Amino acid sequence: MDVADGLTIRVPGDKSITQRALILGAMAAGESRIGAAPRAADPVATALALRGLGVPIDGLDGPATTPLRIGGVGLRGWQQPRSPLDLRNSGTGARLLAGALAAQPLPVVLSGDESLSRRPMGRIAAPLRRMGATVEYLGRDGVLPMRVTGGALRTIRHDGSVASAQVKSAILLAAVGAGVPVEVREPRRSRDHSERMLEAMGVRVREGWRDGAWAVRIDEPPARLAPLQMDVPGDFSSAAFFLAWAALAGTRPLTIRDVGLNATRTGLLPVLARMGAEVEAVGGGAAGGEPAGDLLVGAPGSGLRGVEVGGGEVTGMIDEIPVLAVLAARADGETRITGAAELRVKESDRLAALAVNLRRIGVDVEELPDGLVIEGTRRPLAGRVECFHDHRIAMAFGVLSGAPDCDILVDDPGVADVSFPGFWRLLARLTDEAGGPEHLPSAARRSGRAPGEPARSTVVAIDGSAGAGKSTTAAAVASRLGFRHLDSGAIYRAVTLGLMDSEVGSEAVERVTPDELEALAVEVRWTDAGMGIRIRGKPVPEKALRAERVTAMVSRVSAVPAVRDHLLELQRAAVRPPGLVAEGRDMGTVVFPAADVKVYLDADPRERARRRILQRGESDPTPEEIEAEAARLGMRDRTDSSRKVAPLLMAADAHLINTTGMKPRSQTDAIVKLAIRAACGRQPSRRSGESD
Ligand code: C5P
Repeated sequence: MDVADGLTIRVPGDKSITQRALILGAMAAGESRIGAAPRAADPVATALALRGLGVPIDGLDGPATTPLRIGGVGLRGWQQPRSPLDLRNSGTGARLLAGALAAQPLPVVLSGDESLSRRPMGRIAAPLRRMGATVEYLGRDGVLPMRVTGGALRTIRHDGSVASAQVKSAILLAAVGAGVPVEVREPRRSRDHSERMLEAMGVRVREGWRDGAWAVRIDEPPARLAPLQMDVPGDFSSAAFFLAWAALAGTRPLTIRDVGLNATRTGLLPVLARMGAEVEAVGGGAAGGEPAGDLLVGAPGSGLRGVEVGGGEVTGMIDEIPVLAVLAARADGETRITGAAELRVKESDRLAALAVNLRRIGVDVEELPDGLVIEGTRRPLAGRVECFHDHRIAMAFGVLSGAPDCDILVDDPGVADVSFPGFWRLLARLTDEAGGPEHLPSAARRSGRAPGEPARSTVVAIDGSAGAGKSTTAAAVASRLGFRHLDSGAIYRAVTLGLMDSEVGSEAVERVTPDELEALAVEVRWTDAGMGIRIRGKPVPEKALRAERVTAMVSRVSAVPAVRDHLLELQRAAVRPPGLVAEGRDMGTVVFPAADVKVYLDADPRERARRRILQRGESDPTPEEIEAEAARLGMRDRTDSSRKVAPLLMAADAHLINTTGMKPRSQTDAIVKLAIRAACGRQPSRRSGESD
């Protein structure tokens, strides 16, 4: 591959290897030196926990270029910590430390953040208990916080039902710490960083397929571990985001230097090749028993193809399923991922998180118990993505936000720091340097706001002529963006109902006083299901709002200035981060004159008439019926436009979208795109509508 004109990057060191180097270094006899160790949140949490156990660790506050120095205290030399060890978000840290602690004769409490405290610990606790350690849950059963009290252990053979490198490593560390032989079998081969590092420290590890399972055995654990001297290779899982980015968007070849190429981690490479991406791994050297080298990705040719991924293949790319899912969204045809049930107990339920977010940006996806079926599309994608506190979800959709025709807002970009501080900066640099199509904006802006910056609200005001698709579109836009949907028409209807049923009555609505309006006690309540209206403390049912007598009266009530004034603050109070889609008359002119995006929907009168008739549930209208309905709509438009109070009026700075001949989904796409551009601080061009 010719990379002369290419871009070159490095990614942070592998966390998985760093965490193991920290824990095993702490068990070694003497000082270990670990170069290129990332100071990401997870390894830092593990290092601080080890310090709490009396292990000196130097260089933690320095940059990744300063080696970490770990003063190993021997196999059973850890000391009683003064307080619980908080592993924060690090599942690897918590589980591997639990294993190592099983050999230490100390009662130690392990805890974690909210997300880690939901992840299962039973799969670690069970084998450690069988070996003779005491594991007690201090809160809910099966999750952190838990107390591990170790001591002399017995040998076991563990037959795991799922392939898990963390379970395997915990058992191996317990056995090595306690000096007892052990065998771990798993249905598939999980990543083998612990085995390689143990070998590099002088432990003989025997591995191979036995009776249909992958068996790892340590027969004679040594009395001491030799200290480590190694540089941590770049994290393949971090590199994978940029492999994907280059395959989706790169206009020039990309080289990623010094990446770990351990075959138990690089399962994405053959899958990328099957999808049609041009990727090469060029082996370099080895460090701490780990193979490493450069990854080269060519500029994409004719586009990607959907793939089937399942069974044993998933284990070697378990962390790469999020990035595969976003590639699949842009590949031709269907991608079917199975055998990935494990993803439901990662930092988030990743299968659910991927399905929800892909749908939000406009991709068809089916969620299976153990996977996803994703229908790739070349249509523009747009929407706001929810990270669920999961760094890989944030980065996977971040990659997509840097691809052509994708307007994607990631709600919590800061979570990427867990494994990849500097991810957004690097993505921004690449998209800028790639000098790709002009519509590729800087990825940093795509993230909506900088980590830590307070959330702000984006207001989208939607108005338009009757039958142009306002309500359906507004609801769909709100759902895609995770915004509230303010249906102002429903509020006017509720007030109409309230007044009709009060002493004011239908006759005197024009003379209603502020006090009489106050007495209605109109309230808007927000729940997950959307907006609910209460009058005098009682919820108003949807059916009552749509009743014929209300529809007949609402135009009169909504033309009363006192009514409009009375409802102004109530409507403005609906704004909340991340944003609001405000639908109805005067939204962009009076209620939210400074709205970030104003949209005016219009359509050919006959098309609007046809939609209205279909909406009423009548089928196949005749041309005459359409004509008659169009005439009625035309009359209503004229009355609405000429009425003195709150006339139907297009704001001067509104985008006019003519929806005749547009599918509802394209209308939604166009508005979501405008909203995201506005939220990212970019000036959408006015009056561009669907052609933008
Ligand atoms: O959208 P919907 O048909 O429910 O609105 C009912 C009526 O309320 C509209 O026909 C219009 O006359 C009035 N309205 C208004 N200002 C708004 C929303 C609705 O005058 N912001």
